Order: sequence, then C-alpha cells, then structure tokens
Amino acid sequence: MKINKVVVIGSGTMGSGIAAQLCNANVPVTLLDLKTEISKKAREIIYNSRPPLLIDKSKINNINVGNINDDFNVVKDADWVVEAVVERIDIKHNIYEKIFKERKHGAIVSSNTSSIPIKVLSQNLSDEQKKDFCITHFFNPVRYMGLLEIVKNENNDIEKVNFLKNFCEEKLGKGAIICNDTPGFLGNRVGVYSMQVAMTEAFRMKLSIEEADAVFGRPMGIPKTGVFGLYDLIGIDLMSDVLKSFIKELPKNDEFQIVAKEIPLIKKLIENGYTGRKGKGGFYRINKDTGKKILEAINLDTGKYFPSKKIDLKSDKIDLKSLINRKDKYGEYAWSVISKIIKYASSLVPGITEKFNDIDEAMRLGFNWAKGPFEMLKEIGVKNFFERIDSIKNNQFLENLHKSKDENFYGERQLYTNIETLGKVRTKAIKVDKNNSAEIYRFKDFNIVEFTTKANTLDYDSMNSLKNATDKPLIIINESMQFSAGVNLSYTMDFADKGDFKSIEKFIKYFQETCKHLKYSKYPVISAPSGLTLGGGFEVLVQSNFVASHTNIVVGLVETIVGLIPAGGGCKEMLWRWSQTDEAKKDPDYAPLKVFDIIGYAKTATSPVEAEPLKYLRPEDKKIMNRNSLFTECKKILEKNENFIAPKECQFNLTGKQVKEKMVKILEKLYNEKKILDHGVEVGKQLANVLSGKDATIDKMLSDDDIFKLELEAFMSLIETKKTQERINHTLLTGKPLVN
Ligand code: NAD
Repeated sequence: MKINKVVVIGSGTMGSGIAAQLCNANVPVTLLDLKTEISKKAREIIYNSRPPLLIDKSKINNINVGNINDDFNVVKDADWVVEAVVERIDIKHNIYEKIFKERKHGAIVSSNTSSIPIKVLSQNLSDEQKKDFCITHFFNPVRYMGLLEIVKNENNDIEKVNFLKNFCEEKLGKGAIICNDTPGFLGNRVGVYSMQVAMTEAFRMKLSIEEADAVFGRPMGIPKTGVFGLYDLIGIDLMSDVLKSFIKELPKNDEFQIVAKEIPLIKKLIENGYTGRKGKGGFYRINKDTGKKILEAINLDTGKYFPSKKIDLKSDKIDLKSLINRKDKYGEYAWSVISKIIKYASSLVPGITEKFNDIDEAMRLGFNWAKGPFEMLKEIGVKNFFERIDSIKNNQFLENLHKSKDENFYGERQLYTNIETLGKVRTKAIKVDKNNSAEIYRFKDFNIVEFTTKANTLDYDSMNSLKNATDKPLIIINESMQFSAGVNLSYTMDFADKGDFKSIEKFIKYFQETCKHLKYSKYPVISAPSGLTLGGGFEVLVQSNFVASHTNIVVGLVETIVGLIPAGGGCKEMLWRWSQTDEAKKDPDYAPLKVFDIIGYAKTATSPVEAEPLKYLRPEDKKIMNRNSLFTECKKILEKNENFIAPKECQFNLTGKQVKEKMVKILEKLYNEKKILDHGVEVGKQLANVLSGKDATIDKMLSDDDIFKLELEAFMSLIETKKTQERINHTLLTGKPLVN
C-alpha cells in the first residue's frame, strides 16, 4: 500500500493545518470545502497563518484547492481522504456517503473529530467500508503539535492502521498513538480533566488565577500558560462545548463529571463576550483604558479585574517533589491537583488503554507537559505517594501498585514508537554529571548534553557541561520545547545590577572559549535543535561541527533587540559563512555588509528552509520532520564521521575603516528616516566595529580570537549603558522586547 495522493475535506483550522503538513512533507494534497468564498481563501489563510503552517511558503501552490460541488471527483484518485468538517454528525454522515461512493477501493478514510465516537461516525458504513475507516485526531496547530491519535474500530484492517501510523510518523513527523474508541481518547480525556481539576481546586482553595497558573505551570513541567492562561488561549466558549460533550459521553459515575460542572463565573464570561484571547479578554485581559497596555487578571470571587500580580515561587525549576512538599497553600494546591490527576489517569488503566505509558506520551505530545502523570508518580515515589493519598478504591492500577510497592514500575518510555528516541536512550545511558543547568550522559562511546533550565537559557553551568563533555563525540539535544532561548539575561543582569561587569566579562570569555572548544576539539560535536534556537543558543549550534535540525525551529541572532550584539562567536561565524561565498571573493565588503543587515535587524527564520538563505543553517545540515528521529540522525552522523578531523581555524580578511564607513552611512539613513533612535545607532556602531574588523586593514589576516576580542569589547561597552540595561530589564519583566 502507498499514499501518493491525499484529499482533505474541510478547510477550517484543522483541515488547512493537515493539508499544510502534507504539503510540508511533499505529499500531493487537495483541500476541499463548501462552494463559498472559504474554499477560494484557503491558500491565503494558510499562507498568512501565524505561527506559519508551512515550512516553505513558496510551496503554497502545491496545495490544490477546490469545492465539494465541482471538484469532488479528486476523491477517486486519493489513497487517503481526511474529513475535517464541522463537528456535526449529520454533516459528517453526508460527507462519508459521498466519499465512499467515489473513493477507490481500499483507500483509507479518516475523520479528525475530537469528540464523536467512531461507532457513531461509522454507523451507516458496511463492514467492508469500516475496514478502511478510522479517526486521525490531529492537534492544533498541526505543524507544531506532536500528537496524532489514531482511533480504530473492531472491524479495522490492522495492517492498514499500522501502515497509516508509520506514514504519519515518518512523513508527517507525528507521534502517532493508537487508541481505543473512548470519549476524548487519551490526550483530551486526561488533559481536559487536568485543566478542570486545576481550575476547580483554585476556586475551592481560594487561590488567585496568577497563583494557580504559577503552580500549575513551570514547576510541574507544564507550559507557563498554566490553566487559566490556557483556557483563554483555547477559548472559554470552546472549552464549555468540550465539557458538555464529555458530560454527555462519559458514564454518570466518572470522576470527570464532578469537575466538568458548569461554573457560574464562566457562564457569565461567555455571555458577556469574554471568551478568551479571541474575544474581549478572558481570565486575563489587556486594559488599554489609560492609554497604556495593562495586563489584568480576574478575581474568581468577585469577577472583577485587577492589575495582574507576578507570583514568585522562588524557584523556576521543574521540581514536583519540592513543590508538593512545600508547607504553604501552593504546596497544598499542587499536591491536591497532582494526586487527583494521577488517580484519574491510573483509573483509566486498563479500561481505555493497557499501556499507561501512552497516556504520559499523549500528555507530552498533545499538551507539551515535560512529564505525564505516571512519570510524576514515579518522581514522587510509590511509597511517598501511598503515604499521602487517601482512597484508591475502584482503581485497579493503584491497588496493584500498592501491593507490589514497586518503585521501578515504570519501565521503558515512548512505547508507541519503534524509533530509538532520546527518551528511550536516556534510561539506558550513564549519567556522568549534572549541575543546575545541564546533564551529561554517556551512551556507547559518545556523550549527550541536555540543557535543563527554563527555556534552556545558558549560563556558566551550561558552558561547563558542554566543555566537560567534549572528551568524547558529543550530541547536544533535549526533549523540552526549546533548544535554547539564548544566554540567561537575568543571570547577566544580576551582575550588572551590582555593577560587577568583571564577572560578565569573565562569563562571556568562558562562553567564547567553550564555543571555540566545541568547534575545534578533536571529537565531532552535533547540535540537534528544535523550537527556539536564539542568540547564545544559536551560537552553540553554529559552532557545532554538524547539525540535525527539526523542521520546527525559530532560529536567529536577536541580541540587537535588547541593545546588545552577539558575543559568543555569532558575529564571527556568520562573517565566516558569508565570506565563503563567490560574491565575497570578489568584494571584501560583501560578507560584513550582509551580516550587518542580518544581525542588525535581528532576522529570524521559522524553519530550516527560511534559515538557509540567511546562512543560519547550511545545505548539508539535516532537516528532520519527526522530532523523535533527531537522536537517531545524530547517531548516524557520528557513525559516518568516525575519522573526523577538526576544521582549521578561520582567517578573516576585512577592510576596517572602509566598510565601517559604509555601515555608518546605513545607520545615518535609518536614523534620519526615524527607523532607529540614538541607542540603535550606538548598537549599530558597535556591531560595525566587530564586523569591519575595527582597525583592520585588507593586507592583515584576523584570527578567530581577534574577532572574539572585538565581540567582547563591543558587548561590554553596550551592557554598561543604561539604555541597554533598560531594554533587558523590560524584556525580563514583560517577556517582550521594548519597541524602539
Ligand atoms: P472549522 O470550523 O475551523 O472548519 C470546519 C470547516 O468545515 C469550515 O471551513 C466549513 O466551511 C467546512 N464545512 C462545513 N460543512 C462542510 C461540508 N459539508 N463539506 C465541506 N466542508 C464543510 O473547524 P475545525 O476546528 O477545523 O474542526 C474540524 C474538525 O476537527 C472537527 O471535527 C473538530 O472537532 C476537529 N478538531 C478540532 C480541533 C481544533 O482545535 N480546532 C482540534 C482537533 C480536532
């Protein structure tokens, strides 16, 4: 069996996402909708989507579009037809009737429903047709969410379902988990229950929404939107519909029913148009009444908005054990929420799945949790858990575990896939070292470094781990959302606030030394980025010998946004890459001016395809759709490069004053056009000092160390300015850069 052509019916949020992902995988796809404006606009919507659904926007016309009246015959040629129309059973049944009349014999037909059971969807199909029908439940946004649940029925041709699973893993890069036909399948059943518990417990224990989000967030390994922030993001009205569907589909005695009951405040919010970010606001809102944008949070008791307060839990580490052991309301809330989630998830085993591990993986892939409920149980410890928990009646899994008291009950990770993932390897590898910011593992004859800080920002400890791990071939990889968002700015500002600029200088020097070491030491170094790979994170990548990149990356040197310039070798490496071009061989100022433009504007790329023309990535760097495969790809690179020879050090031929003058002219023009302000000119001049080679002359070659020195000098002169410190502090406080 082969899937050469796909038809997606319904070009809304999900259909366009699925079609775009097929296009990303170079699979010919046609997207159909009603014969209205919507089918004509499908391409435009995909093209302008944010975050972008396409890896390469120039491929937009590879998605064929049409309408179900005039173009339905495309179904005849399709090997797979995906239905993604509105969640209405009458409309879906109608569509299936049409599809099964037209489809070629044996073609797969699937639905993207999130709540209708497969037995209801397929009730009008013959047994023969049911063989080829299943649910393929993608998550939104399709390009970025790892999870795909494939729901089968008892009539399915299992070989075909497995074939589809492999196709979706290999081609579409999804973590495909096969599920039974139970309400909400795996991800939403546990994910939505968890949100409801986190919300109802916040009401019961009288926590503010900021407090609840601070606990049910980063310290638990849950995305920082927490619960109320996530509610706003999804849409409070949509969540209400989802809950109604669960209430209808689940048995009356299911624990879910207790937490799914309508909450008066939520009803009022929806009635008044407070449906979340897409509406007037939700639990949080931006108040612009005073002319300034003020983030406000709702008081759960009164329903009134107040300026939102930042909650400081005094630790930004994922550390569930410490969290539940806190002797305050946060510790109590955390334990109450997490123990209920563990109890609920385990009550579903073996009823909805025999493999409890699949629930954990669904939570990772579909909700971006760092750990699923069972891994949390493992972390808390079986003995500890049972000492604190009240009743475990009607919970076969917990009753068995209570008897066995097996602390090692968990076994392997990521059972749903045959790929040798980092998660599987980590359990077999030896942990060589661990500090506050990174872990080093030894596997076979190479090392693995995983960053472990918030957004994997880099500090002295991260550099230490990298340096120490170069005594063997090294893979730099992790499973969290970001490869690295750059140098830890609050670490840097702690020194700046004390006026201790010597320590900043020492750190930058160590950063440079480490990156140089990565590039030139005798063993190969491979970076495997996914998610944000910015600033210092990019400098680690660009000074690795090889790269295996996930197709979902945001990559770039963004330092100028906070009034700095890259100083860990970012300017140097970009200069080197651009100086290797034919144009640069003819014109010595070509490379410095190109890099001045890229770094000056802090250009970022949202995929490897966008990254290559900027030379953030090279053609030979591997681009991988399935994040799970990054580790295997890195291993293959190591195998191919057993006789690795470290590259020669760079030599730069720069014109100094000549090119600097050209750069200053550009800055003056931008200043006169009011595109940059005084400090922008200062940052630009410092960047120009580095990229021009400052006092360089064309007859004198500069070394890596010479450019490192210039980077350090420029960085230090900027970090000492009030303006740059203001920009950094603003970014740290708001999470957003200062505009202008
Ligand atoms: P949507 O409202 O964005 O899009 C639905 C599309 O179906 C619209 O473009 C509409 O014009 C089209 N449509 C309606 N009747 C049609 C017909 N007879 N023939 C062809 N097209 C028709 O909805 P969505 O959010 O994309 O959801 C689609 C499906 O995916 C639903 O079953 C939903 O439950 C499921 N789902 C949604 C999400 C999500 O986050 N939005 C996540 C997972 C699953």
